[in-house]
Amino acid sequence: MAGRSTGRALIVAAAIVAVGAGAALAAFTSGPAAAGPGPSAPVALGSPGSSVTSSSSPGLVGSPSLGASPPASASATSSPAPSPSGPKAAPTSAAGFVPGKTIVPMGWPFAASVKVHYGPGFGVYRVGPLEPFNMISGVSKSGALLRGHDGIDLQVPVGTPVLAPFSGTVIDPRKHWIPWDPARYGKVVAIQSDEPTSVGYTVILVHLSSIGAPIGVHVTRGQVVGLTGITGDAAGTIPHLHLELRAPFLIRYVVKGVVRRVDAFDARPSLLAVDPHRK
Ligand SMILES: [Zn+2]
Repeated sequence: MAGRSTGRALIVAAAIVAVGAGAALAAFTSGPAAAGPGPSAPVALGSPGSSVTSSSSPGLVGSPSLGASPPASASATSSPAPSPSGPKAAPTSAAGFVPGKTIVPMGWPFAASVKVHYGPGFGVYRVGPLEPFNMISGVSKSGALLRGHDGIDLQVPVGTPVLAPFSGTVIDPRKHWIPWDPARYGKVVAIQSDEPTSVGYTVILVHLSSIGAPIGVHVTRGQVVGLTGITGDAAGTIPHLHLELRAPFLIRYVVKGVVRRVDAFDARPSLLAVDPHRK
């Protein structure tokens, strides 16, 4: 299943606007990439504050196709979401989105006391099949597109509570990024924001050991939604949270002369803006 690289996915009618020279990709610094499923001993979620509010129909959330309507429910929760006088809202279309620079207002995904090291970032080379929704890192000598890292790795100990960076709905990644490969991602929580400054953007929290917010529920920014782990292909790596940000539109990149349109983008500027250790 993981070998398919063409087909159904990401047939998106969203407006695609040229975005400058594309992402500033890091060098080919491949991190450890051990294969095989990792240990998946579940860790009990011990946070009493991690209750999830039930919401509409669990299961199907929104449209299975990317770039369709943003979530309809903008529930008036008392989250510390940005106010109108706060951070600037993220672009609602590819126009105005600058890869590597645009900041999407979000929350830091850990408690401020957690020590975090930034690991491999967006666009670095990754082994494994290239799916239509994956970024590319370049082109091989034979002309094949090489898969790039879709996220950023935040190195923290296994079992670290992960906080929702957005208020929004937990969605099923298998319906949005096809073909989703559980062997690669392991246990994930994907939250589609309904905050006014980031509506429709999705954060994907990957390699968790435990999921605290099932598909279909509404979560509030700062709420514990899982514990970090090494599920998927993270076994053998420095334990980390693989964090992806995905836009509600496709972004046009030019990498080594090749045009690539995906909804993935570099989360680093957005994270640095809220990193409590950088303030
Ligand atoms: Zn990663």
